[in-house]
Amino acid sequence: FLTLDQVNLQYTHKGGAVAAVQNASLRLGRGEIGVLIGPSGCGKTSLLRAIAGLERLHSGSIHLGGEALAVASQNVHRPPEDRRVGLVFQDFALFPHLSVADNVAFGLRHLPPAPRQARVDEMLALVGLEHAHKRMPHQLSGGQQQRVALARALAPAPALLLLDEPFSSLDVDLRESLSQDLRAILKASHTTALFVTHDQAEAFAIGDRVGVMQSGHLEQWDEPYTVYHRPATRFVARFIGHGVFLPGHLEGEHGAQVRTALGLLDNAQDCPVPSAYPDGRCEVLLRADDVVHDDDAPVQACIEHKVFRGAEFLYTLRLQDGTRLVATVPSHHNHHVGEWIGIRTQVDHVVTFATP
Ligand code: ADP
Ligand code: MG
Repeated sequence: FLTLDQVNLQYTHKGGAVAAVQNASLRLGRGEIGVLIGPSGCGKTSLLRAIAGLERLHSGSIHLGGEALAVASQNVHRPPEDRRVGLVFQDFALFPHLSVADNVAFGLRHLPPAPRQARVDEMLALVGLEHAHKRMPHQLSGGQQQRVALARALAPAPALLLLDEPFSSLDVDLRESLSQDLRAILKASHTTALFVTHDQAEAFAIGDRVGVMQSGHLEQWDEPYTVYHRPATRFVARFIGHGVFLPGHLEGEHGAQVRTALGLLDNAQDCPVPSAYPDGRCEVLLRADDVVHDDDAPVQACIEHKVFRGAEFLYTLRLQDGTRLVATVPSHHNHHVGEWIGIRTQVDHVVTFATP
């Protein structure tokens, strides 16, 4: 439904060209929610601006519902107002002098009063603010204001809704409940959306697809489960979740197993193993949830550091040979720093990368 093909975006800065987005390609199905995540400055906002038509492509193309929004090679660039793309930004302020209902009606001026009123009612009900028509923005909480902003963006029924960190100015509690509501609201209105966040939990909770960006590159675009369990690059592996890279050595037929400091692990790579690993040497991603506390396990690890996260601790562990690991361990038992505990790995498919 939304297709980006080899999108390149450059800014001119002090006479030189700065690449903000490089060869980004993605597909998002109708009614799906895509999430872009990545460190500050990696190009997330730039990519949204290109889709909205606020920036011209240097090369590549963007199609929405089969229509060309931008095709650099043919000099096609539809103006923003001609794209049926809605936008909600982080600092998306409501019009302070307009009531909630008038804010939501803002994009509906082309409609006669009765259907306009009906649409406003429908949108406010959708975001759970059906009794707030007459309120003024300053009479609403931050979370309520963002709901109104969402209702305003959804009212003209955009073919695609772009949301750029819309919750980043809200407190954590509110963010969590709003992000769940957002998903429900987008699904209820069958809205196709692309959402930018720097919060990984939010990305996984909201997205049907998650894209991880770094330095203008979209390094992976996949289902959240795949992004977590089959990270395409070392950057994605490091950026998502907690884990370490351990030296490993491929063993068995076609490198079906990997020898590590923690013993033999099954290899995720579909055989035959990439010949990219000279001498079978590789690095193994071991996530915190791949390491399990087990008093009967032969491998002992010393707790160097621990972070309490409620249901679990995040431990930083050191093995006898100095190897460092991280582990999430249920917090029923409160080990102390310096204590040695038994650990083993619980990995179905280990993820390997070439040794840098
Ligand atoms: P993100 O939203 O992921 O934080 P941005 O898309 O805002 O990243 O920025 C990507 C890169 O483009 C950054 O290096 C930023 O400095 C640069 N950039 C953004 N806007 C402009 C601009 N108007 N002119 C020049 N460089 C810009
Ligand atoms: Mg940004």
